[in-house]
Amino acid sequence: MVAHPDATKQSNLAARFSGSAVAASEPSLPPVVTPTPVPTPTATLTTPLRPAPTLTRQAKGSKPNVLVSTGRLAVVPGFSKATGERDKLTYRVEIEEGLSFNGAVVAAAIHKTLTDARGWQAIHPVSFERTDKADVDLRIIVATPTLTDKLCLPLDTGGEVSCRVDDRVVLNAKRWMYAVPAYSGQVDLYRSYLVNHEVGHALGHGHSTCAKAKTPAPVMMQQTKGLGGCLPNAWPTIKAT
Ligand SMILES: [Zn+2]
Repeated sequence: MVAHPDATKQSNLAARFSGSAVAASEPSLPPVVTPTPVPTPTATLTTPLRPAPTLTRQAKGSKPNVLVSTGRLAVVPGFSKATGERDKLTYRVEIEEGLSFNGAVVAAAIHKTLTDARGWQAIHPVSFERTDKADVDLRIIVATPTLTDKLCLPLDTGGEVSCRVDDRVVLNAKRWMYAVPAYSGQVDLYRSYLVNHEVGHALGHGHSTCAKAKTPAPVMMQQTKGLGGCLPNAWPTIKAT
Protein backbone atom coordinates (compact mmCIF):
# COMPACT_ATOMS: atom_id res chain seq x y z
CA MET A 1 0.00 0.00 0.00
CA VAL A 2 2.93 2.23 0.08
CA ALA A 3 3.18 2.17 -3.57
CA HIS A 4 0.87 2.62 -6.43
CA PRO A 5 1.55 3.66 -9.97
CA ASP A 6 1.31 7.18 -11.21
CA ALA A 7 -2.04 8.47 -12.25
CA THR A 8 -0.99 8.06 -15.85
CA LYS A 9 -0.64 4.36 -15.30
CA GLN A 10 -3.98 3.89 -13.67
CA SER A 11 -5.86 0.96 -15.06
CA ASN A 12 -8.73 1.42 -17.40
CA LEU A 13 -10.76 -0.07 -14.60
CA ALA A 14 -10.88 3.37 -13.10
CA ALA A 15 -12.50 4.77 -16.20
CA ARG A 16 -14.85 1.86 -16.57
CA PHE A 17 -16.13 1.98 -13.04
CA SER A 18 -15.74 5.60 -12.08
CA GLY A 19 -19.41 6.29 -12.56
CA SER A 20 -18.63 9.56 -14.27
CA ALA A 21 -20.46 10.76 -17.34
CA VAL A 22 -17.24 10.56 -19.27
CA ALA A 23 -16.67 6.94 -18.50
CA ALA A 24 -20.28 6.08 -19.11
CA SER A 25 -20.12 7.63 -22.55
CA GLU A 26 -17.22 5.48 -23.62
CA PRO A 27 -18.65 2.02 -24.08
CA SER A 28 -16.01 1.17 -26.66
CA LEU A 29 -13.05 1.18 -24.30
CA PRO A 30 -10.52 -1.48 -25.22
CA PRO A 31 -10.36 -4.65 -23.17
CA VAL A 32 -8.75 -4.02 -19.83
CA VAL A 33 -6.89 -7.23 -19.49
CA THR A 34 -4.62 -8.98 -21.89
CA PRO A 35 -5.14 -12.65 -21.19
CA THR A 36 -2.02 -14.16 -19.77
CA PRO A 37 -1.13 -17.73 -19.02
CA VAL A 38 -2.27 -18.65 -15.57
CA PRO A 39 -2.07 -21.72 -13.43
CA THR A 40 -4.83 -24.15 -14.09
CA PRO A 41 -7.27 -24.23 -11.21
CA THR A 42 -6.74 -27.31 -9.18
CA ALA A 43 -8.91 -29.14 -6.78
CA THR A 44 -6.10 -29.20 -4.27
CA LEU A 45 -4.97 -25.69 -3.59
CA THR A 46 -1.52 -26.21 -2.27
CA THR A 47 1.27 -28.64 -2.82
CA PRO A 48 3.71 -27.52 -0.20
CA LEU A 49 7.35 -28.37 -0.46
CA ARG A 50 7.30 -29.04 3.23
CA PRO A 51 4.45 -29.85 5.56
CA ALA A 52 2.35 -26.70 5.80
CA PRO A 53 -0.86 -27.70 7.53
CA THR A 54 -3.87 -25.47 7.23
CA LEU A 55 -4.59 -23.02 9.97
CA THR A 56 -7.32 -25.17 11.39
CA ARG A 57 -5.22 -28.30 11.47
CA GLN A 58 -1.79 -27.15 12.44
CA ALA A 59 -0.13 -28.92 15.29
CA LYS A 60 0.18 -27.17 18.58
CA GLY A 61 3.13 -24.86 18.65
CA SER A 62 3.75 -24.92 14.92
CA LYS A 63 3.81 -21.61 13.15
CA PRO A 64 1.90 -20.98 9.94
CA ASN A 65 4.04 -20.41 6.91
CA VAL A 66 3.87 -16.90 5.57
CA LEU A 67 7.52 -16.49 4.60
CA VAL A 68 8.80 -19.56 2.73
CA SER A 69 8.25 -18.81 -0.95
CA THR A 70 7.63 -21.41 -3.63
CA GLY A 71 7.11 -18.76 -6.26
CA ARG A 72 4.11 -20.62 -7.65
CA LEU A 73 0.57 -19.29 -7.65
CA ALA A 74 -2.54 -21.43 -7.56
CA VAL A 75 -5.96 -20.13 -8.51
CA VAL A 76 -8.62 -20.69 -5.89
CA PRO A 77 -11.31 -22.67 -7.67
CA GLY A 78 -14.88 -21.50 -7.45
CA PHE A 79 -17.34 -18.80 -8.27
CA SER A 80 -18.98 -16.06 -6.21
CA LYS A 81 -21.81 -14.39 -8.05
CA ALA A 82 -22.06 -10.63 -8.32
CA THR A 83 -24.61 -9.26 -5.89
CA GLY A 84 -25.51 -6.18 -7.90
CA GLU A 85 -26.78 -5.55 -11.38
CA ARG A 86 -24.32 -2.84 -12.32
CA ASP A 87 -21.20 -3.26 -14.44
CA LYS A 88 -19.63 -6.54 -13.53
CA LEU A 89 -16.00 -6.49 -12.49
CA THR A 90 -14.57 -9.99 -12.51
CA TYR A 91 -11.68 -11.06 -10.34
CA ARG A 92 -9.98 -14.23 -9.35
CA VAL A 93 -8.08 -15.11 -6.19
CA GLU A 94 -4.64 -16.66 -6.39
CA ILE A 95 -2.58 -17.85 -3.45
CA GLU A 96 1.06 -18.76 -3.43
CA GLU A 97 1.51 -22.47 -2.97
CA GLY A 98 2.87 -23.45 0.41
CA LEU A 99 1.20 -20.68 2.37
CA SER A 100 -0.80 -21.84 5.37
CA PHE A 101 -4.09 -20.41 4.17
CA ASN A 102 -7.32 -22.12 3.26
CA GLY A 103 -8.02 -20.77 -0.21
CA ALA A 104 -11.79 -21.04 0.06
CA VAL A 105 -11.76 -19.11 3.33
CA VAL A 106 -9.54 -16.39 1.92
CA ALA A 107 -11.68 -16.06 -1.20
CA ALA A 108 -14.86 -15.87 0.87
CA ALA A 109 -13.39 -13.13 3.04
CA ILE A 110 -12.36 -11.13 -0.02
CA HIS A 111 -15.75 -11.44 -1.66
CA LYS A 112 -17.54 -10.50 1.55
CA THR A 113 -15.42 -7.36 1.77
CA LEU A 114 -15.87 -6.37 -1.86
CA THR A 115 -19.64 -6.78 -1.76
CA ASP A 116 -20.15 -5.24 1.68
CA ALA A 117 -22.68 -2.41 1.82
CA ARG A 118 -19.95 -0.14 3.22
CA GLY A 119 -17.60 -0.98 0.34
CA TRP A 120 -16.79 0.27 -3.14
CA GLN A 121 -20.02 -1.03 -4.63
CA ALA A 122 -21.76 1.79 -2.76
CA ILE A 123 -19.53 4.34 -4.48
CA HIS A 124 -18.76 3.00 -7.93
CA PRO A 125 -21.24 1.50 -10.42
CA VAL A 126 -19.58 -1.86 -10.07
CA SER A 127 -20.51 -5.37 -9.00
CA PHE A 128 -17.68 -7.69 -8.07
CA GLU A 129 -17.85 -11.27 -9.25
CA ARG A 130 -15.30 -13.93 -8.41
CA THR A 131 -14.36 -16.52 -10.96
CA ASP A 132 -11.48 -18.92 -11.55
CA LYS A 133 -11.30 -18.22 -15.26
CA ALA A 134 -8.22 -16.86 -17.01
CA ASP A 135 -9.96 -13.83 -18.46
CA VAL A 136 -10.65 -11.48 -15.57
CA ASP A 137 -10.47 -7.77 -14.89
CA LEU A 138 -8.48 -8.15 -11.69
CA ARG A 139 -6.24 -10.73 -10.05
CA ILE A 140 -6.18 -10.64 -6.26
CA ILE A 141 -3.06 -12.45 -5.10
CA VAL A 142 -1.92 -13.44 -1.63
CA ALA A 143 1.83 -14.01 -1.69
CA THR A 144 4.83 -14.29 0.57
CA PRO A 145 6.82 -11.09 1.10
CA THR A 146 9.41 -12.43 -1.35
CA LEU A 147 6.94 -13.02 -4.17
CA THR A 148 5.00 -9.86 -3.31
CA ASP A 149 8.15 -7.84 -3.90
CA LYS A 150 8.62 -9.49 -7.30
CA LEU A 151 5.02 -9.16 -8.43
CA CYS A 152 4.90 -5.52 -7.34
CA LEU A 153 7.90 -4.40 -9.38
CA PRO A 154 8.73 -1.73 -10.29
CA LEU A 155 7.16 -0.61 -7.04
CA ASP A 156 9.10 -1.14 -3.83
CA THR A 157 7.12 -3.11 -1.26
CA GLY A 158 10.15 -3.87 0.88
CA GLY A 159 8.88 -7.25 2.06
CA GLU A 160 6.38 -5.49 4.28
CA VAL A 161 3.54 -3.96 2.34
CA SER A 162 1.12 -4.76 -0.46
CA CYS A 163 0.46 -3.17 -3.81
CA ARG A 164 -1.62 -2.81 -6.93
CA VAL A 165 0.13 -2.94 -10.29
CA ASP A 166 -1.81 -3.12 -13.54
CA ASP A 167 -4.41 -5.85 -13.11
CA ARG A 168 -2.68 -7.28 -10.04
CA VAL A 169 -3.64 -6.64 -6.45
CA VAL A 170 -0.90 -8.28 -4.40
CA LEU A 171 -1.56 -8.81 -0.71
CA ASN A 172 1.44 -9.54 1.48
CA ALA A 173 0.81 -12.81 3.35
CA LYS A 174 2.62 -11.53 6.42
CA ARG A 175 0.18 -8.65 6.70
CA TRP A 176 -2.80 -10.89 5.92
CA MET A 177 -1.80 -13.16 8.78
CA TYR A 178 -0.64 -10.68 11.38
CA ALA A 179 -2.17 -7.33 10.38
CA VAL A 180 -0.47 -4.35 12.04
CA PRO A 181 -0.24 -3.33 15.72
CA ALA A 182 -2.44 -0.27 15.19
CA TYR A 183 -5.38 -2.58 14.51
CA SER A 184 -5.06 -4.10 17.99
CA GLY A 185 -5.78 -7.65 16.92
CA GLN A 186 -8.69 -6.83 14.63
CA VAL A 187 -7.27 -9.01 11.88
CA ASP A 188 -10.50 -9.40 9.91
CA LEU A 189 -10.98 -5.64 9.84
CA TYR A 190 -7.41 -5.14 8.68
CA ARG A 191 -7.88 -7.71 5.92
CA SER A 192 -10.91 -5.80 4.71
CA TYR A 193 -8.83 -2.63 4.79
CA LEU A 194 -6.11 -4.32 2.76
CA VAL A 195 -8.52 -5.50 0.08
CA ASN A 196 -10.43 -2.23 -0.14
CA HIS A 197 -7.29 -0.09 -0.17
CA GLU A 198 -5.58 -1.95 -3.00
CA VAL A 199 -8.76 -2.46 -5.03
CA GLY A 200 -9.36 1.25 -4.47
CA HIS A 201 -6.17 1.91 -6.42
CA ALA A 202 -7.47 -0.27 -9.24
CA LEU A 203 -10.61 1.87 -9.26
CA GLY A 204 -8.51 4.99 -9.66
CA HIS A 205 -8.06 6.25 -6.11
CA GLY A 206 -4.81 7.71 -4.84
CA HIS A 207 -3.67 8.12 -1.26
CA SER A 208 -5.20 10.32 1.39
CA THR A 209 -4.24 11.16 4.95
CA CYS A 210 -5.70 11.41 8.43
CA ALA A 211 -7.41 14.79 8.52
CA LYS A 212 -8.55 14.81 12.14
CA ALA A 213 -7.38 12.74 15.10
CA LYS A 214 -9.76 10.17 16.60
CA THR A 215 -11.90 10.02 13.50
CA PRO A 216 -11.91 7.03 11.14
CA ALA A 217 -8.87 6.86 8.88
CA PRO A 218 -9.67 7.10 5.17
CA VAL A 219 -9.42 3.69 3.53
CA MET A 220 -7.00 5.19 1.03
CA MET A 221 -4.65 6.26 3.80
CA GLN A 222 -1.54 4.08 4.06
CA GLN A 223 -2.73 2.66 7.36
CA THR A 224 -0.07 -0.04 7.45
CA LYS A 225 2.52 2.68 7.99
CA GLY A 226 0.55 4.20 10.85
CA LEU A 227 -2.77 5.84 11.56
CA GLY A 228 -1.57 9.35 12.29
CA GLY A 229 -3.94 9.64 15.22
CA CYS A 230 -6.94 8.35 13.28
CA LEU A 231 -8.88 5.20 14.10
CA PRO A 232 -8.69 1.95 12.10
CA ASN A 233 -11.18 1.90 9.25
CA ALA A 234 -11.62 -0.52 6.38
CA TRP A 235 -14.53 1.05 4.54
CA PRO A 236 -14.56 3.64 1.78
CA THR A 237 -18.04 4.84 2.77
CA ILE A 238 -16.81 5.72 6.27
CA LYS A 239 -14.59 8.74 6.21
CA ALA A 240 -13.18 11.17 8.68
CA THR A 241 -15.30 14.28 8.99
ZN1 LIG B 1 -1.76 2.45 -1.44
